[in-house]
Amino acid sequence: MRIEEDFKLDFKDVLIRPKRSTLTSRSEVDISREFSFRHSAGKYRGIPVIAANMDTVGTFEMAKALSRHQLSAALHKHYGESELTDFFRAIPAESTIFYSMGITSADYEKFRRVKETAGDAIAYVCVDVANGYTKSFVDFINKLRKAYPQITIMAGNVVTGEMTEELILLGVDIVKVGIGPGSVCTTRKMAGVGYPQLSAIIECGDAAHGLGGLICSDGGCTSPGDLAKAFGGGADFIMLGGMLAGHDECGGDIEEHDGARKVRFYGMSSRTAMDKYSGGVAHYRASEGKEVLLDYRGPVEGTVQEILGGVRSACTYVGARRLKELSKRTTFIRVARQLNEVFGAS
Ligand code: 5GP
Repeated sequence: MRIEEDFKLDFKDVLIRPKRSTLTSRSEVDISREFSFRHSAGKYRGIPVIAANMDTVGTFEMAKALSRHQLSAALHKHYGESELTDFFRAIPAESTIFYSMGITSADYEKFRRVKETAGDAIAYVCVDVANGYTKSFVDFINKLRKAYPQITIMAGNVVTGEMTEELILLGVDIVKVGIGPGSVCTTRKMAGVGYPQLSAIIECGDAAHGLGGLICSDGGCTSPGDLAKAFGGGADFIMLGGMLAGHDECGGDIEEHDGARKVRFYGMSSRTAMDKYSGGVAHYRASEGKEVLLDYRGPVEGTVQEILGGVRSACTYVGARRLKELSKRTTFIRVARQLNEVFGAS
């Protein structure tokens, strides 16, 4: 047994220190980014925020709505082959939409068939496992990269620099970072495993950038300010589940509870998801996600404006004309208190 003594940070532990700036308005800030991917050599331009590949967030409708604002989505992996093919064939060339998969041979075969028919319309894939430290995950990435040299691969999840480096050297373009921070995730409670998300971003970002790779911070953002902190800490992309849940584009039914309109949102390892897709929770495992009822929030567009407005505001406070400059201009200060909640938490 060993104890690491240095203090690890979560979004709630810091604020961003304001800096002198010549920017006069938020409208002067450009929050899009351009990337060239290390392995695929593909080029990206857009606002690097991605809807999570959860079946209540990463839907076709969400992907289309976010594309209109230059944001992206990772589709959930439970769509059928023909729906996926039709969808990818119909999307405009400039949209960045990820095909998601797990690491079973069935996942691989399904992808191979869909890709064969959809062709170059599928340029981005997201290989998603709860634990990115296993040999079977590493072997899968190896096989995928060899078979598809030109595809942009995002894969994870991991939370440490050494595994980030290994994945980038293996062929991953964007390493997905986060174990346990998610809004409907119970891994930390069930397994006691995890890593404070801001430190994970800082450490994995450093490791990735040193090798010309990129990271996507996945999970734990609860407000636009958290996205600003994630970008400030070195995240190239940010994946959002809960912040984009509860909208029209999420595909769930709207339920009436005591006169209020509600929508269900659940983790992809929750009992709800396993009952729906895997015939229940297998006897050797426990569910590592939960289900919540959220207030119905209408179209996602309003939420997108709010999120982007917050990130733009952070850039103005530190004098970053472009999102790319935000992390260079960020100094975090450790704090004991974030918000004044005298009138309640909102
Ligand atoms: P959020 O933005 O809601 O805080 O986090 C979204 C992320 O939580 C997803 O992208 C995924 O990585 C993670 N996640 C989704 N469902 C589950 C689950 O059931 N269990 C765990 N451990 N993580 C989940």
